[in-house]
Amino acid sequence: MDEERVRKELTSICKLMYDRGLTFSSGGNVSARLDDEHILITPSGKNKGLLLPEDMVKVHMDGSVIGQGKPSIELGIHLALYSKRKDLGAVLHCHPPYCTALAIKGERLRSFLTPEGAILLGEVPMSKYQTPGTDRLVEELSSHHLSNAILMERHGAITTGKDLMEAFNRMEEMEFHARLQHILGDKGREFDTVEIKKILGM
Ligand SMILES: [Zn+2]
Repeated sequence: MDEERVRKELTSICKLMYDRGLTFSSGGNVSARLDDEHILITPSGKNKGLLLPEDMVKVHMDGSVIGQGKPSIELGIHLALYSKRKDLGAVLHCHPPYCTALAIKGERLRSFLTPEGAILLGEVPMSKYQTPGTDRLVEELSSHHLSNAILMERHGAITTGKDLMEAFNRMEEMEFHARLQHILGDKGREFDTVEIKKILGM
């Protein structure tokens, strides 16, 4: 992958994520795979709406930084997911308000409210709370590596994809579903298993 292009894509996705209200201040972190041995990840502690392509930090899969910059505190989660899933091209973590509210309540995200939810998200697990930036949080999220959308208890959400756009679309869809769930209350009935099978077989 062309590094300059990926730097620009990461910057655009961060701005989109910030402008759409999917994350706030310096919260969240986004990465993209460059090749078998390297990723680019957002820097630590900077507002996601103001990042520039040159702010993205290049990191080897062994965790060492190449060049300048301090990578996100959650670098370990990103590296663990890429090493478990060779098909992944991007990992996106942020704090969308409706998803985060569910994650604080410990309530399951009802992802089978619409056909798009079933297709883009599938069943969304909730990872157990662990302190940010710790090996325990990395281990906890690694155990959910087969899911492309995960709610993180008392924290936020993570999505993955073959590229940044796919991971972003999943995040936006996830927040849309959490909002629907909030609007619908107990009237938010999901598709039954027969219809889910039909949708997924399309
Ligand atoms: Zn976070």
